[in-house]
Parts: sequence; C-alpha cells; structure tokens
Amino acid sequence: AYLARINATEPMIRAFLHLTPDAALAAARAADERRRKGQSLGPLDGIPIGIKDVICTDGVPTTAGSRILAGFRPPYNATVIERLLAGGAVPIGKLNCDEFAMGSSTENSAYQITTNPWDTSRVPGGSSGGSAAAVAAGQVPATLGTDTGGSIRQPAALCGISGLKPTYGRVSRYGLIAYGSSLDQIGPMAWTVADLALIMNVIAGHDPRDGTSAPIPTPDYTAALTGDLRGLRIGIPREYFVEGMEPGVEAATRAAIEALREQGATLVEVSLPHTKYALPTYYIIAPAEASANLARFDGVRYGFRAEGETMWEQIEQTRGQGFGPEVRRRIMLGTYALSAGYYDAYYRRAQQVRTLIKRDFDQVFAEVDLLATPTSPTVAFPIGQKINDPLAMYLSDVCTLPINLAGVPALVVPCGFSEGLPVGLQLIGRPFDEATLLRVGDAYQ
Ligand code: GLN
Repeated sequence: AYLARINATEPMIRAFLHLTPDAALAAARAADERRRKGQSLGPLDGIPIGIKDVICTDGVPTTAGSRILAGFRPPYNATVIERLLAGGAVPIGKLNCDEFAMGSSTENSAYQITTNPWDTSRVPGGSSGGSAAAVAAGQVPATLGTDTGGSIRQPAALCGISGLKPTYGRVSRYGLIAYGSSLDQIGPMAWTVADLALIMNVIAGHDPRDGTSAPIPTPDYTAALTGDLRGLRIGIPREYFVEGMEPGVEAATRAAIEALREQGATLVEVSLPHTKYALPTYYIIAPAEASANLARFDGVRYGFRAEGETMWEQIEQTRGQGFGPEVRRRIMLGTYALSAGYYDAYYRRAQQVRTLIKRDFDQVFAEVDLLATPTSPTVAFPIGQKINDPLAMYLSDVCTLPINLAGVPALVVPCGFSEGLPVGLQLIGRPFDEATLLRVGDAYQ
C-alpha cells in the first residue's frame, strides 16, 4: 500500500532519491509470517521506514544529496539501521536532503527539489525535507532525519508533522555522514508523538562504535506517555519570539502554550540572554567542523572522480565539480575560521560563546522542566524565494540552532495553521529527558 502511495505521489513530491521495493516487499512478507506465528519482533515489525540519505545503508546508494557521492554504496549499515532491522522495521528507500545536510529548504540537493505536500509550490524545509515531505504525503508512516541546527525540527514544522532531535549522545552517529560532528544527531519523524516514542525505543541507547554515545540507560518512551501534565513547569523564553516572526506563527504558538496551561502545566516567563549570539556562533562552528569532515572527499575513496593530469589537479577538479555552491561556501568559511591568525578571533571565541549559551540552558532548567517556543519564524516559503540569499536562509533556524549548541533535546509537534500552512510548537528539554518532551507533546496531541 505504501509503495502504491509512493508511486502515485512521487511525481509531485519527489521525496525519494532511491527506492528498494523488492527488498522492502520481501521484508514485509517475512514480518507477516512472523506475525502469523506469533513471533513478532515488536511494534515496528513490518513497518516501512524512509531513511535520510546521509545515513549509510549496506549496499544501497547513499549520496548525502551530493554529486560527489554519486554511485557510492556503503559496505555497512549505520547503527540506527541495524537497530531498525533488529526491530523488524522495513527500510523502503533513501530520502532527499540538502547536500551534506547544509540548508533549510532541501533546494541545495544536487539531484532534485522536494515539494511541500501542503502546497507544492513551496519548500518542505530542510535539510531533512525529503524525510518530512514523505511522512506528510502519506508515503511512509515514519522516517529518520538528522538535525545539526534544526534540520529535523524546521521541516517537521513546515510539513505539519512531529519530529524529535534527541540529546547529543542519545542516538548513535556511527554510519552517519558527518556534517558538524559536535552538533549532529539522528532522530525520528512521524505524524504522532506516540510513533516517535516507538522509534526511540528501538534506535536510542549506547553504542560502543560511537565515542560520543552516552553510556547511560534509556527509559521506555512509550510508558512515559501518561497524558498527565499537572505540576510541570514550562518556561517561555522571551528571546525566541524574534523580530520578523510572522504574526500567524506567533499566534498559533501562543495558543498551543495556553492549551498546555489548561492541561495543568504552570507557565513561567524566562530569559536565555545569549540567544542572540547563537546564529553567528553556529555559523563559525558548523562550517569549521564541516571543512574538516569533508576533507575526506578527494575522489580517491568514494563515489565521483573527475579527470586531472596530476594527483592535486584530480582532487581539485573532483571537489570543484562534486560539491555544490553552498557546500563550497561552508568549506571556505570553515577553513578561514580555522586558519592560523584567525583561529583565536573566530573559532576559539565561538567555542567560548557556545559555553555561555549552554549555561543559559543549565540555569533555566534549574527553574523549569522544559521550554516551549516557536520552531521557525515563518511557514513554508515559496521554492526559489531564499535560495540566492544565504543570510535569509540561515535565519530560518534562529529558533532551533541554540539547542544543538547546548546539546539538549527538542521536540516539534504540529500546532495549527497560519494562512493555511502548518505551524510547529518546539518543546526543549533537559539533557537526556526526551521522555518529558514526548509526554508533553503526546498529551498536547
Ligand atoms: N540550516 C542549518 C544549516 O544549514 C541546519 C542544518 C541541519 O540541521 N543539518 O547548517
């Protein structure tokens, strides 16, 4: 049924870069067989899942939305894929994204433009735009995305679905093509928060193959969905209602926060004073890490290789032709920020400010259990509107970037519409307290 739905809608949505229908049908039949015998592997057994194309899948093309990885088939699965398979889930294909997850609209993909199912003249958000659009169009019940500065949450908001960026270290990054290694997290995207909880139960937890994976136990996220919000203190940080936010977005967000109060939560106005430095700090740290991570794409080891007389010429041509304009811009920015003479002024300074941003969260979480904010200052914007204006594009993530700098978890749930397009409420939690976020999001839904 899902394959039929994909066939019917893909000409309009263009969410998938690669489909594996035969393997998916075989896996689904095996799951049916298990169910008949009463040997089901759990709640995800037989459930189709779409995978963002920055996550390595054994023998299945993995491009990160980049020409430089055209033809690359990883020889192994990411840990999240191994865990989904062990839980019976059925990977059905690879989803479009901004090249190396750099962007907020999925327009930076080297392959195709994914549309927003609510209005196909608009972007689905990004960089996990394929993952969000596929769920919103009913092509799959759930997907995996990744979030370095908002890439699960902003597209979830713009496509009217739910998405979770777990705490840094909660979900293994082994087998994720790295963008900003100190910021990247894999997380689930689905219609409902209850579905996110089911997927977290399968993918979360310590992995010895990822040195930054947290060696701590994970709770049962489904059991956490009690529906009870009484006694919870929810902080409303005034800095997140930024200038230039669309009035309809602010109104829908405030109405959702009021609904949480009616369900028994206490609202507290709070301040995170270093919020205004998050965007410039992120755009030093993320490109700096990206410039180092992307050095491995030299035309020798993976995918695409251009011609060249000498070794250096070949590398130069491969990288010049293989990377798109936004990726080249980030490599230039990052290399500049890390170069001798500028390192102290930019990179070290950004690391110091990152600590101040993290401390804002530590302080506020001594007072409240979670925070509620808008996700994106706008609803889904028209395709082409921001693609030639990088600064306007970077502003899309002004409400989501600070969360990655602090490493804390955040959940987005749909909270109504502005001018006919979906708006998402962002709930931000204490480190490793995804359970409270899921509980609140589920009770709201
Ligand atoms: N839009 C931000 C960027 O381009 C965040 C992307 C992400 O979270 N992967 O870096």
